[in-house]
Amino acid sequence: MRLLLFCMFLSFNLQAALIGIVNDTIANGKTSLLEFSSQKGVKYFDVQLDNKKYKIFQNPQKSEQLYALIPISYYDKPAIKELIISYTENGKNKHESIFLKVVAGAYAKENISVESSKVNPKSPEVKKRISKEYVKAMKIYHRVTPKSYIHKPFIMPMESKITSDFGKARVYNGSLNGYHSGTDFRAKVGTPIQAANDGVVALVAKRFYSGGTVLLNHGEGIYTCYFHMSQFNVKEGEHVKRGDLLGLSGKSGRVTGPHLHFSARIDGIQVDPLQLISLLNNNLLKEN
Ligand SMILES: [Zn+2]
Repeated sequence: MRLLLFCMFLSFNLQAALIGIVNDTIANGKTSLLEFSSQKGVKYFDVQLDNKKYKIFQNPQKSEQLYALIPISYYDKPAIKELIISYTENGKNKHESIFLKVVAGAYAKENISVESSKVNPKSPEVKKRISKEYVKAMKIYHRVTPKSYIHKPFIMPMESKITSDFGKARVYNGSLNGYHSGTDFRAKVGTPIQAANDGVVALVAKRFYSGGTVLLNHGEGIYTCYFHMSQFNVKEGEHVKRGDLLGLSGKSGRVTGPHLHFSARIDGIQVDPLQLISLLNNNLLKEN
């Protein structure tokens, strides 16, 4: 209610009162959630940010409520961003704007030393392999299944200590080389990994950087990813339920030791998986 009232301040027409933004100030690498109440004669379509459009979907648990997730890339700079919401009212095309404040996340820096061949591989075969794996994964992440497989709130992939947070700037062997794109869980080799929610197994592969990898498609553009695994318990195309055993943790790929790297994507954009989960669990998904 608080949020709906907030939006009424932005604009006094009726439509704005039906659109709420849960988090209107957001750091790079995080996700913003918009909520919409259904109303007779109104059909919501999408939310545009810069040149990208994000679909407005029904809440998987409440059909009278709709939502859109707006992922902010880690590389986005602080700015006030306009979100343009497209809908029709009694068949007429309409737009509504909401503003999002993107701020710089307070991310730490982390020094890592690994075998130099794993930082900047020189061999053409390895380079080819890495680029093939990247292209294949991006194709998957950009596939937005127009239905949700989710029925319940998310859970953690394992109950374990978090050893490295999302977003730490990573300095490999002395040179800045990206950022930590997920959350690491302490896990000795052979620790069971569970599906964070219901979904379809989109990929099972042994990759150069991420080692034993499982990607789960939760529908409506949401994916979770499980890296460095030692054993797989699922096959591509298989439907899994929240808590199902995906396989065992390991130390495959580019690692300094055994752990689970857990990450998430929305419409292809990498976001903080734990912030996404608490955002969805606190606002959209209820245990039934
Ligand atoms: Zn990691």
